[in-house]
Amino acid sequence: MAIEALLIDLDGVLYIGEAAVPGARNAIRYLEDQGYPFRFVSNTTRRSRRSIVSRLASMGFSIPEEHIFTPAAAAAAYLAGDRPQSALFLTTMEVADEIAGLAGIASDPVTAGTVVVGDAGDRFTYRSLNEAFRLLLGGAGLVALEKDRSWMGADGMTLSAGPFVAALEFASGKEARVMGKPSPHFFMEALASMGAGPTEAAMIGDDVVTDICGAMACGLSGILVRTGKFREEALARAPCQPSAILDSIADLPGYLRR
Ligand SMILES: [Mg+2]
Repeated sequence: MAIEALLIDLDGVLYIGEAAVPGARNAIRYLEDQGYPFRFVSNTTRRSRRSIVSRLASMGFSIPEEHIFTPAAAAAAYLAGDRPQSALFLTTMEVADEIAGLAGIASDPVTAGTVVVGDAGDRFTYRSLNEAFRLLLGGAGLVALEKDRSWMGADGMTLSAGPFVAALEFASGKEARVMGKPSPHFFMEALASMGAGPTEAAMIGDDVVTDICGAMACGLSGILVRTGKFREEALARAPCQPSAILDSIADLPGYLRR
């Protein structure tokens, strides 16, 4: 089926570290010129949406905040739900402030009913993980902003939130509720904002598991790029095979024109 709308991953697809992927700006301009609706679905959980927008602007991408879907925004909607309660945020300060602000809840380790885990970087310490573990034992729920294994940082492959979420699950016996990719709810919400159905849409990403297999399980096409965290070994052992593989997003216009 022809591709009529796109979901686009950010990290490893549009940029790596502080640098735009060569040809990425042209590819986005092509989508705009051709009138393709598109949204960005990112599992980046170190930065708030506002800071993602300004970082993208510094790389020459002009993208409105409401076109970017992040696990933090999904978590805020979830936490603001039926019974809002305070949370312990095992995330960067920036993301903790964003979620607490959007959800209208307090960040309080004493009364926390939920432990929220994102990519906390250097804030993952034995002490902070053990504090989260004790809250889970005391009955708190576990929310994972994402459960990715790794991402490509400016200086090399970098642990994401997944390994720490897995450690907390292993220790507590609880299963985390995942907010970002590959949660079907996350993909479907981004599609709904464009009025697009899954079978007419494609997801383009560098993570074969969360981006590609996650989207394909929802009925989208999956376009894997060989930039960012792409590894042949990860592709070989993936639970699905992509609909297409491109060297980078620079090849997207040619692929859509074919
Ligand atoms: Mg990525």
